[in-house]
Amino acid sequence: MNSIRSWMTETVVTIDEEASVGQAAQLMKAGQVGAIIVVRNDKVVGIFTERDLLALIVAEHRHAIDGKVKDAITSRITSVPPDAGASSVYDLMRKNNIHYLAVVEHEMLKGMIAMKDLFDFRERALEGEIYDLKKQMRETEELVSASGDERVKILMSANEKLKTLSLKDELTGLYNYRYFKSRLDEEMDRARRHRQDLSLIFCDIDHFKQCNDIHGHQHGDMILKIMAAILGEGSSAMGVIAQLRKSDVVARYGGEEFVILLPQTRKCDALIVAERIRNAVENHPFPGRETQPSGRITISVGVAALFEDAPNAEELIRAADRAMYAAKTSGRNKVCLCEPVAAAASLQPRS
Ligand code: GH3
Ligand code: MG
Ligand code: MG
Repeated sequence: MNSIRSWMTETVVTIDEEASVGQAAQLMKAGQVGAIIVVRNDKVVGIFTERDLLALIVAEHRHAIDGKVKDAITSRITSVPPDAGASSVYDLMRKNNIHYLAVVEHEMLKGMIAMKDLFDFRERALEGEIYDLKKQMRETEELVSASGDERVKILMSANEKLKTLSLKDELTGLYNYRYFKSRLDEEMDRARRHRQDLSLIFCDIDHFKQCNDIHGHQHGDMILKIMAAILGEGSSAMGVIAQLRKSDVVARYGGEEFVILLPQTRKCDALIVAERIRNAVENHPFPGRETQPSGRITISVGVAALFEDAPNAEELIRAADRAMYAAKTSGRNKVCLCEPVAAAASLQPRS
């Protein structure tokens, strides 16, 4: 419902790039369409729209009608996959004043989406938003008229709902698993489409249970917060240590595990980032660290890359987790690269 697959036109008029503008215009008139897709051996090379035709007429290119359609395309081809969200596609088209988009999957044309197709979608989405607002107003009215005890109950259930909608982990302020997973899927799509690198770093605190057992759970929570500040984006004073890019996604995967998603980053560069983080953690003066087996709070880190180690999101997480586990079994406080064989390459900590 929310992907453009449900809104696009699947029967699209196409024309070979060597055809003439006149032929393109005839096809548009016959099909009563405002745009046709220009192809070369079934691969999309562009989109020829009413605007392009108008531009030729206005420029009074008298012989333009005999010219090749491929030379008359003025706008760069913008395409989206069929699973793209209707809402983001609508925003993209509106912002860039695009009237027609090609829907392409694995370089094959799947359909075309016109701005007007999405008006319907927007209308329904707005109706949904209005419905939600009305519901919220009803709930507020209920709250105002409820007695003390009922109010507490209503507020608690609203809080629970909010938690499930939230993108941030309550304790550390980092992104939570839910947000990480959705960004991973998005970045995975992008990396596949543009054949770009995508690396994942998986960190797990060493002997954290012991830290909790000795100093208590609250102390453990404080360690997790400091860890998040070290990993956190440049906005936190300590976050500068990790030197992550704005496009990198740092999240609490769960418990004492953290993940960093690095778009457009090769595995060898992710390894450098991972080592920098491991080193920063090892050298940070965490309170109570002297009771840890090594006298320090340390992390074991795994690094994996898309394509090289895994073909999809689930396997990429598994590959990075496997590498992290290799770091654990080879002595902890280490960074390991995902390796198909047991002998994982590792960077030894500097001591
Ligand atoms: P290893 O080096 O093998 O990773 O050992 P470990 O003790 O870190 O691993 P284990 O999986 O045995 O224990 C993880 C501990 O993390 C257990 C749990 O009490 C603690 N933990 C998980 N989430 C939280 C949290 O939110 N707060 C606190 N304080 N502790 C947590
Ligand atoms: Mg763990
Ligand atoms: Mg652990």
